[in-house]
Amino acid sequence: MSEQHSFQAETQQLLNILIHSLYTEKEIFLRELISNASDALNRLQFEMLTNDDVVDAEAELAVRIALDEEAKTLTISDSGIGMNRAEIIAGLGTIAKSGAKAFIEAMREKPESASDIIGQFGVGFYSAFMVAKQVDVISRSYRTEDEAVKWSATGGTNYTLENADKTSRGTEVVIHLKDDEEEFTRGFRVKDIIRRHSDYVAFPIYVDDDEEPTNKQQAIWRRNPSEIEDEEYDSFYKMLTMDFAGASHHIHMRADVPMQFYALLFVPGSGQQNMFSPRKEPGLKLYARKVLIEEYNRELLPEYLSFVQGVVDSEDLPLSVSRESIQATRVMASLKKTITRRALNELKRMAKNDRDKYLRIYQEFGAYLKQGLVVESEDRSDIEPLMFFQTTHDEDPSQYHSLDEYVERMSENQDDIYYVVADDYSSGSRSPHLDAFRQRGIEALYFTHPVDAMLPMGLTDFKGHKLVSVDSAELDLADVGDASEAEAKSAAPLEGDSFAALQARVKATLGGRVSDVRESKTLVGSPARLVSEDESANRYMFRINRLLDKDYELPVKALELNPRHPLMHNLSGLIGSGDDALIDAVVEQVFETALLQDGIHPDPSSMAERLTLLMEAATGSASADLDFAEVKTVISEPAVVEPSDFEGIVLDPLDEVEDAADASTPL
Ligand code: ADP
Repeated sequence: MSEQHSFQAETQQLLNILIHSLYTEKEIFLRELISNASDALNRLQFEMLTNDDVVDAEAELAVRIALDEEAKTLTISDSGIGMNRAEIIAGLGTIAKSGAKAFIEAMREKPESASDIIGQFGVGFYSAFMVAKQVDVISRSYRTEDEAVKWSATGGTNYTLENADKTSRGTEVVIHLKDDEEEFTRGFRVKDIIRRHSDYVAFPIYVDDDEEPTNKQQAIWRRNPSEIEDEEYDSFYKMLTMDFAGASHHIHMRADVPMQFYALLFVPGSGQQNMFSPRKEPGLKLYARKVLIEEYNRELLPEYLSFVQGVVDSEDLPLSVSRESIQATRVMASLKKTITRRALNELKRMAKNDRDKYLRIYQEFGAYLKQGLVVESEDRSDIEPLMFFQTTHDEDPSQYHSLDEYVERMSENQDDIYYVVADDYSSGSRSPHLDAFRQRGIEALYFTHPVDAMLPMGLTDFKGHKLVSVDSAELDLADVGDASEAEAKSAAPLEGDSFAALQARVKATLGGRVSDVRESKTLVGSPARLVSEDESANRYMFRINRLLDKDYELPVKALELNPRHPLMHNLSGLIGSGDDALIDAVVEQVFETALLQDGIHPDPSSMAERLTLLMEAATGSASADLDFAEVKTVISEPAVVEPSDFEGIVLDPLDEVEDAADASTPL
């Protein structure tokens, strides 16, 4: 007896779109159905590793296609895992796949590009309705206790279900072709489609009574790289990821000793998650002796390379084990090591020989690599050559320089590598910390990507040179470079007594918001700067926390005053005049301007009121008449963070970090 069921609303929409589509490459329906059959065979194969109590245990794992010109049908049968009643309702009555939902969304937004959208991503089983006026699915699950079931639909709002008498295991999809789609009953046409779209399918595909399979069945990763065209790699990548923008690079490895394995890896062209992608999670597809063991394996590459897509296939992995215990094998550990090394070497080679190409990858995925530098200390020396930065060398934000290049250019007597942490290139380049560096011709790296704030936790030194922040209180450049020329041009410094008075006055105003007030040996054009007495590697963590919208506290820093700056001369002159309100306001503003220049002012617009009053004073109002508002910044000790704090949180927050990077630091 047959019962009526109605399709889920989204399925109805999808069917409606497909039935009426004018998409010209309707032949892809065959690719989609063969791919479902192949998935079903893969799943059966996996099941049979641990369970031999299945229907038709001896049946050949294959796909068969039967054509009937008279009845105008095309039937695709597989000896795969099959479906019982509940599974058929879940699989073919509803859309579980978020990809298909995204498809409907995309169609709703841009109905005019229907054919692009259909062509771009598999809409799976339902694509049959582009060519069918009716589809019957007769399936028998591998479980001996399950009964065979027949599903049937004509593309309306309902489908029917009834018992069937299929005795063999697997699924049979009968396509009743629309009148003008008869071409799909012709053998040569169907075989041609199979060869073009499904040649690599790992199971034999037989058409009609052929004894030879139509497809070569050779997985692309098992073939000889010298015989594979770029287009083949490209279309394999697109099939695997549904990322139709294409990959920017592929790495094809094959090895026999000490382990036998094949791996085909891709670096995606873009770091942006494709909403249609079936590969929602990071991870490589793992085959053991041609059996698909895992769709997303995350043990084969370190987390910082998790943007890499691809397939790994090894003859050396034990087959008769569960997914969990496979992770623990020695083979997995050495596979990971080999694959990681190869991938890193490939990136290093590219960074050296094809920098433009590498930098495009770095722009998309550099944040992952930086995370690796912090978290995976054993891999540091492999990741360091992959780091590139804008620097003060050419003051050109479009140019990126390696650490090696920096070291080669170091000034005489220079031991350390200097960097400035800033929110973006332009604020970095205006940093008062760079005064002394420019004056002495010393190069500094810009750390302006949001995740760069965590770099000092991993990148502590490079080739024997310490990495030192330009805002370190300890900084002593006296022996590095030559500043005599610039010093000769600047005003005389304040006398010792006057400076001491100024220092005490500034201290009194700022209180605990600064750890100290002292004379600067490095400032040239700027009146003041905040220096960090905290030399610990995690002193920029508050920037990361701020970025992730977590609670953070500004670090307390020391304020350095420039004794040669005219503002300090003026301020020194005001002391003793009794105009305390004006002095306080200027000191507050000097402090907050320094915060602003470091990109760490928590609330810049709060300064507006005071700035207005200061302008009134500058333009002639008697300061006694002005009511200087108290705009104080609350600052306390920063929390301590360890590199290990990153391990878990890295991936998702990193996406946010990258979004933020897109907004603030275009490469
Ligand atoms: P997808 O295959 O991408 O999940 P489909 O719409 O093509 O989406 O298929 C929906 C579901 O129906 C599949 O996930 C699977 O569970 C089931 N299915 C489809 N074809 C077969 C088949 N030949 N054998 C067993 N199950 C199938």
